[in-house]
Amino acid sequence: MKLDILVFGAHPDDVELGCSGTIIKHLKNGLKIGIIDLSRGELGTRGTLETRNQETIKSTKVLGVQLRENMDFKDGLFENNEENKIKLIKKIREYRPEIILTNAPNDRHPDHGRSSELTIDACFLAGLEKIETNQKVWRPKYIYHYIQFLNILPDFVVDITEEMDKKLESILCYKTQFYNPDSKESETIISSEDFLESVKYRARDLGRQSDCKYAEGFISNQTLKVNSLKDLI
Ligand SMILES: [Zn+2]
Repeated sequence: MKLDILVFGAHPDDVELGCSGTIIKHLKNGLKIGIIDLSRGELGTRGTLETRNQETIKSTKVLGVQLRENMDFKDGLFENNEENKIKLIKKIREYRPEIILTNAPNDRHPDHGRSSELTIDACFLAGLEKIETNQKVWRPKYIYHYIQFLNILPDFVVDITEEMDKKLESILCYKTQFYNPDSKESETIISSEDFLESVKYRARDLGRQSDCKYAEGFISNQTLKVNSLKDLI
């Protein structure tokens, strides 16, 4: 299956936090989108591997993407090495997306920056004929980084006003990870009520700055161009 957009995340909830509104919006517009999580987030303080898998399945249904896979790289310990690059190259050549969305280049969790680097490297290398995987070469045209924990200034935003409720619904599928007043597990920085409020506030604040109610921000890996200034209206 050929995809229009392939989204990578180091951990199963990264994509929901960073760019689920944009995914839902583009699915509505008929684009084919897949998500590949690099790890299962097994080092997370709250929940278990099993609960995290169940939460991911639930959220994937809310999003409605064409596919979601997991590379089963080691949470916290995966490296941007030859073995992992080849594994991602194979996925990029298999799904042939024009657009890649990936983690922020620098974030609180070190896996996010590494996931971002690994993705960028694999996208470039997937276009080299001499790296043989018995597949046709393919190099995605655009790589955009979504913003997650740190407040990074975006290069552009996507209006997700119509998609904000569903974005929050997908995030809250990760019941063990985020604010849940009934949970008896240790509180973490992302399970506090404040964190959930900050997700809403960031979308609202980016919306305020770009003349809509809610928005998601992205950093571009290359210089952006438009054919007409009217495209920005
Ligand atoms: Zn993460």
